[in-house]
Amino acid sequence: MRLSQFHLATVKEVPADAEIASHRLMLRAGMIRRLASGLYTWSPLGLRVMRKVERIVREEMDRAGAIELLMPTIQPRELWEESGRWAKFGPQLLKIRDRKEQEFCYAPTAEEVITDYARNELKSYKQLPVNFYQIQTKFRDEIRPRFGVMRAREFLMKDAYSFHLGQESLAETYAAMYQAYVRIFTRLGLSFRAVQADTGAIGGNASHEFQVLADSGEDAIAFSDGSDYAANIEKAEALAPSAGRPAPAASLQRVDTPTQKTIADVAAFLKVQPRQCVKTLLVRGVDGLVALCLRGDHELNEVKAGKLAELPGEMVLAGEEEIRAACGARPGFIGPIDLPDSIPVIVDRDAAVLADFVCGGNVDGVHCTGANWERDARISRIADLRNVVEGDPSPDGHGTLHLARGIEVGHVFQLGPKYAEALGATVIDEGGKAQVMSMGCYGIGVTRIVAAAIEQRHDEAGIIWPEAMAPWRVAVCVINPKNASAAVNEAAEELYQALLQRGIETVLDDRGLRPGNMFADMELIGIPHRVVVSERGLAAGTLEYRGREDSESRTLSRDELIELLE
Ligand code: ATP
Ligand code: MG
Ligand code: MG
Ligand code: MG
Repeated sequence: MRLSQFHLATVKEVPADAEIASHRLMLRAGMIRRLASGLYTWSPLGLRVMRKVERIVREEMDRAGAIELLMPTIQPRELWEESGRWAKFGPQLLKIRDRKEQEFCYAPTAEEVITDYARNELKSYKQLPVNFYQIQTKFRDEIRPRFGVMRAREFLMKDAYSFHLGQESLAETYAAMYQAYVRIFTRLGLSFRAVQADTGAIGGNASHEFQVLADSGEDAIAFSDGSDYAANIEKAEALAPSAGRPAPAASLQRVDTPTQKTIADVAAFLKVQPRQCVKTLLVRGVDGLVALCLRGDHELNEVKAGKLAELPGEMVLAGEEEIRAACGARPGFIGPIDLPDSIPVIVDRDAAVLADFVCGGNVDGVHCTGANWERDARISRIADLRNVVEGDPSPDGHGTLHLARGIEVGHVFQLGPKYAEALGATVIDEGGKAQVMSMGCYGIGVTRIVAAAIEQRHDEAGIIWPEAMAPWRVAVCVINPKNASAAVNEAAEELYQALLQRGIETVLDDRGLRPGNMFADMELIGIPHRVVVSERGLAAGTLEYRGREDSESRTLSRDELIELLE
């Protein structure tokens, strides 16, 4: 690609609400442009990166024996009624009507559609096991889309669904998918961990999340330094030997003590019904503002709420005015407060769980950003509020537990018969009897991976792509192409062609920018290798080379350069 013929659109300024590095850098590099809340256009540059991820995901899915298909993004209500999820899925489900007043939703996932496909296509045990996958757009009406494509409303997901007779076959495919995921994230050059996870609203028995490690991650994970044990914080908590012991000093107090405001007080203060109160409820810890509970997307479980009931200490409820005052006092601590529906925002999942406890479990869900929490504060808060603490022994008897932040980029589930049973998806077994199939499902957030990779690898100058994800591996920069001698342009062109011929993805920066600006652009967009062709170098028979992470340039001959890149 010649940059003079490409649309590269780097910018200096980004909106203040771009809170985390990957969001800022994707905007600055011109990879994405915001259309509306949670909706992004992928620029030609951004798309090159997204496609690289997609290609690796596809190759490894194919290698693992999965078969690609493509399902519609618009799904009929009737199917969702069959599974019972039309009502249960909650406000993340975008519901649509056509001109005949027929109801549909925009796919947030595709268990229903694939199970419908399977019940029509699969008749005999001989067709099993089979694993279908697609790479297709999803829409989830996230309560607070944020961090650019990291938590978008429309995003690209690879979703796979396997069908089986018997648990053994399901476990086999699950293991194969797990291995495929390890290969995918390894090839992508990411530092990640597979952790045990709760199965949550999707249901089923076994589940793992693949978490890219990053301080800005919204998830917390616990892992052992003495074994392979790793789990997300919810799961770790459920299994921890310390579960049930009194939590360390969290300085929180039950609301029913006389000094506290009650829900009724808060409701009166807000001039709302007590039940509505849960939508605008703030829980404040002694160390300042902690949490606001909203309707939202996080499935809570009573176990958590129950445990929290045992917490000693002091907790204070506050109304909206106090929330606003608190926000003013700690600028940047909380996201923009004037949401269209005037719901003040947020905080941290753990604190929101507390709020849920205070409300007696009446909250539809909770929502957290956590992005503005300092890392240590966030981790210690998790440790404070939970039964899993940094330094705990492991659940498996080896080593001690450590806590870290992660970004969920993949998730695998053993669903079992749940959807097949609801939709009546059966095949004839060896004995000629109809049997309900078992299912596994396996998701990867293709677009989220792009952001997660940047979160993990960047510096002040910009993105540092792993080679596998870079839009181009090499940039050949021509100094002053319009005024340089014909020889300089010819040498650059020759090098560019030579690299392409060797299958090395190269971009020729022939835009004629000042060297400083050109280099800044190439660093910002994260090209791993930069070569400068200049009048001076040509006279000396050399090229100036610099790797994205090198502190200085090196002088190389043409042959040395090619050898280095091959
Ligand atoms: P999260 O906990 O971050 O909300 P999830 O558990 O709801 O994610 P899954 O239903 O497991 O997501 O979907 C599979 C994958 O899709 C996730 O592992 C994640 O990589 C990706 N994903 C989910 N929601 C979003 C989103 N709003 N924007 C971008 N990617 C997403
Ligand atoms: Mg979600
Ligand atoms: Mg999740
Ligand atoms: Mg998940």
